[in-house]
Amino acid sequence: MATSHYANPGSALRAARRGNPRNLPCPTCKQPNRLTPADVRRGYQCDACADREEGAGDGRPG
Ligand SMILES: [Zn+2]
Repeated sequence: MATSHYANPGSALRAARRGNPRNLPCPTCKQPNRLTPADVRRGYQCDACADREEGAGDGRPG
């Protein structure tokens, strides 16, 4: 299992790294510095919003 491929365990967000800084706002909650350019290209939102959507939605895991 790779150690730091993702920003956090359970997160789909890409880890910030050189050339991919976490300096863009989340499109959902508008919080600054939530996403990297790679995240935005994939249409991701921040972990908090993703959790809300996945967890509090219909209750289905995954
Ligand atoms: Zn968000």
